[in-house]
Amino acid sequence: MGLSHLPASPVAPSSATEEPERAPGVREHDSYLAAIMNAVVDGVITIDERGTVLSMNPAAAKLFGFAPSEVIGQNVRMLMPEPDRSRHDSYISEYLRTGTPKIIGIGRQVEGKRKDGSIFPMELGVSVVATEGRRVFVGLIHDLSQRRQFERRLQELQSNRLDLMENMAAGLAHELKQPLTAIGAYLNFARRHLNEKTLSIEKVEEMLDGANAQVFRASEIIDNLRQFIARGEAVRTLQNLNEVVRTACEFTDALAKEHHVKTSIDLEASPDAVVINKVQIQQVVVNLKRNAVEAMQNGERREMRVSTRLFGRDLIRVDVTDTGPGLPEEISGRLFEQFTTTKPHGLGVGLSISRSIIEAHKGRIWAEPNPGGGTIFSFVLPVAER
Ligand code: ADP
Repeated sequence: MGLSHLPASPVAPSSATEEPERAPGVREHDSYLAAIMNAVVDGVITIDERGTVLSMNPAAAKLFGFAPSEVIGQNVRMLMPEPDRSRHDSYISEYLRTGTPKIIGIGRQVEGKRKDGSIFPMELGVSVVATEGRRVFVGLIHDLSQRRQFERRLQELQSNRLDLMENMAAGLAHELKQPLTAIGAYLNFARRHLNEKTLSIEKVEEMLDGANAQVFRASEIIDNLRQFIARGEAVRTLQNLNEVVRTACEFTDALAKEHHVKTSIDLEASPDAVVINKVQIQQVVVNLKRNAVEAMQNGERREMRVSTRLFGRDLIRVDVTDTGPGLPEEISGRLFEQFTTTKPHGLGVGLSISRSIIEAHKGRIWAEPNPGGGTIFSFVLPVAER
């Protein structure tokens, strides 16, 4: 087999006209071989016993960014980064001396160096072919960059998902507390008024309906978590953000009233179409509102404002503004990290969950001082494309 004459690349040194006399059939054999070399997706490079490149197929040329003519006739070490670059000659001489293969017939993951100097991971398989009294080394090169990238991405996704699940599990306790507290409050109200007979039946019915709505909300939160675990993501649908925020505000009305917080709502974003998981975004608004109420509970001024508006051309911004004491300085740098809390019974997960949710929706969440005193928590979400 005339491997040293592999006409694998258009500019390989041995063109058909230079070819020596061959037995009938050899020429076809070589042209088959050339066709195969040209067609394979993996790189193929042949070198002689001194490491000089004899041929390079188009896939290898593309992989390394060189024209074959720039490589053929040169030492193959030009395609390697250190330390292999300095050591390659001795790898060959060692093999020729001892016959002990390090890579031949084994295959290794090594690094290649492109013309532009960048380094990429590759799987290299080498076989030795004895031809016309000489040995030729055939290197098969499989680019691993995409696989590595894919593996990295997969790892990232898995750890993101674990983070998110851990976050959601920790948050479940937190999220469920709010509807459960509300249910308790509604039922207590109803019972008290039934005992004292101070309220009409209609009013009691209204409270039972309120409790019922919160039961529904709690079960939505659990469903959401179940969906997330089953599918790896929470289902998103087209929603009007103003509506979603308004409903979330209703969930916290009772809490705000209980703490004598005056709430104003100003939902003016238009358009307000977003593709979101409604329950998750409501969770964020409820978290921010509850934090605002809690921040103001010992204050003189207790005013909260919830607003939406367009932010740039393709984002909708939601602000929850309070007149509380402002952010505690000691935690301002890690506000959105898990388990950051200044509350005696705080879990410190509300803001970290909120951030995971908003970022999973390709949005951003942040906090800044309210010029009039207090804090503004804001998030933005992309407007849905028409
Ligand atoms: P938790 O409410 O359980 O403490 P969060 O992650 O929701 O957990 O909040 C973390 C911390 O951020 C709170 O303990 C509080 O110190 C601070 N914080 C959150 N919202 C506000 C706010 N509106 N005003 C002042 N501080 C806030």
